[in-house]
Amino acid sequence: MSSFVSWPPSLQPDELEHLTLLATTYALSHSLLYLPPHSHESPPPPTPTSAIHAPFSLFPTPIPRAQFDLAKRLQKAYNVLYARVAMDEQFLDEVMGEGGVASVDEFTGELWKRWKAIRVQGIVQPLHLGLFRSDYLLHQPSESEGASLGIKQVEFNTISSSFGALSQQVSSLHNHLLAATGYFNSSPLLKAPNLPPNETIAGLASGLVEAHKAYGVPGSSILFVVQPNERNVFDQRLIEYELLEKHQIPVIRRTFAELATATVDPTTRTLHIPSSFSTTPSSTTEISVVYYRAGYTPTDYPAPSIYATRQLLESSLAIQCPSLALQLAGGKKVQEVLTRPGVLKRYLSEEEGAGEVRASWMDMWGLDADGDTLPDAPPLTSEGANEPEPAGTRNARAESEQLVLKPQREGGGNNIYRASIPAFLSSLPAQERPAWIAMRLIQPPRGVGGYLVRAGEGSKGLVRSEVISELGIYGWALFGKVNDKVTLKEKEVGWLVRTKGEGTDEGGVATGFSVLDSVVLVD
Ligand code: ADP
Ligand code: MG
Repeated sequence: MSSFVSWPPSLQPDELEHLTLLATTYALSHSLLYLPPHSHESPPPPTPTSAIHAPFSLFPTPIPRAQFDLAKRLQKAYNVLYARVAMDEQFLDEVMGEGGVASVDEFTGELWKRWKAIRVQGIVQPLHLGLFRSDYLLHQPSESEGASLGIKQVEFNTISSSFGALSQQVSSLHNHLLAATGYFNSSPLLKAPNLPPNETIAGLASGLVEAHKAYGVPGSSILFVVQPNERNVFDQRLIEYELLEKHQIPVIRRTFAELATATVDPTTRTLHIPSSFSTTPSSTTEISVVYYRAGYTPTDYPAPSIYATRQLLESSLAIQCPSLALQLAGGKKVQEVLTRPGVLKRYLSEEEGAGEVRASWMDMWGLDADGDTLPDAPPLTSEGANEPEPAGTRNARAESEQLVLKPQREGGGNNIYRASIPAFLSSLPAQERPAWIAMRLIQPPRGVGGYLVRAGEGSKGLVRSEVISELGIYGWALFGKVNDKVTLKEKEVGWLVRTKGEGTDEGGVATGFSVLDSVVLVD
């Protein structure tokens, strides 16, 4: 562990300046980019005229080799687990449906209602595609816990898992700095065999290609559903270019609003997107796979018509990445329910890695959990509420310093941490408790530093900071029940590191908390 505490290696100011010059130039040359920020008053130009490099770390981050290998191995088990959960309609109805989260969380309710309506109408495409990312932090247990340093899962993403392409570019960036300068011999760890390969672009594309082939119609295209004014476009475009250049599969990009003119053939249920060009107004393209890089957050549905569009796409023969079932399976409530006794074994055998999956979890419970689920919760008091609080909420109050509370949302900025928890619990309407989970905080090793490089106005450029790094592993699964027989193909396809200043609870690169990073393996 000594290599953790002495990171990053020390360099002279002129060496750091040289590395920063090489790094920013490399980033700008290799699509490690964002579109520049814009404001409401000055919206982005219709066609981009400039870009800035994405925020990144100057040095890769040390991660124990055994833990990195474990995370990659776990991905196979998680791919299978979430595929099977997404195929269990009864379970998803119970947890995320009317009897569960859907009745207390409007957004989940809207998604579930659409899924339900499509099931009533009859699902025509049995296959689902998931491009996943499972996120981990290194956990340094306290001495009383006894266990050694190991990865713990933060969350499992089933929709719009981003930064796959840019993570590959950051790996290349660190390899370039090593090849060009040897990092000035500043650490014996910094050598090529310790920088693992990362081919996430080809890997994520291979999932989409597999689904496109399963759809099997020559001349069809893959549809990327994207957010208006998205700044993280290069991360998406690199996958698009891979599909076209290596696999001759064209991609059509549309926002939900632009998809108002999409049609589904009433007989064949095929999905068609009209041409956007005035010279070919009546031509349409058949869609094989719908890949959502939008639709994971309520603001992506500013009008009821957008939910109707999502439903229309999902009711077609095009393979959905993800299907509504798979999006619902990625809910944080599902993550918590899977940790309850007896649930995981319904989906994953010990031979398939259930033990390692279980060992990757932190304690979780629902704020509405009762005394049977949490027999050790503190006794009832009148504190903070007019009516008796359920055991799950009492426990969250008592242990708030060790906890994060999470609602059913994606995309960052929604969680409540530590000292903010008691007041939040007092303000949360009792009927909304089932939409929230409590999760024990992972305790990453302290004393690790990094150099973070940010671009853009008001940025200080290179900043040294104490840091915490989050490892994400990408995987895909193509699965479904075809003629009562389950088919399932899956693959682990690459990784990501996001590094944040130690003082920030939230992660998230798009939200400005984190920088993109890569791995240097430590034995
Ligand atoms: P989101 O869907 O918004 O990305 P996450 O569950 O990933 O939600 O939480 C956001 C961030 O909060 C994570 O990237 C991580 O930095 C931090 N975080 C979440 N859960 C924990 C935890 N149990 N322990 C420590 N940090 C956590
Ligand atoms: Mg997250």
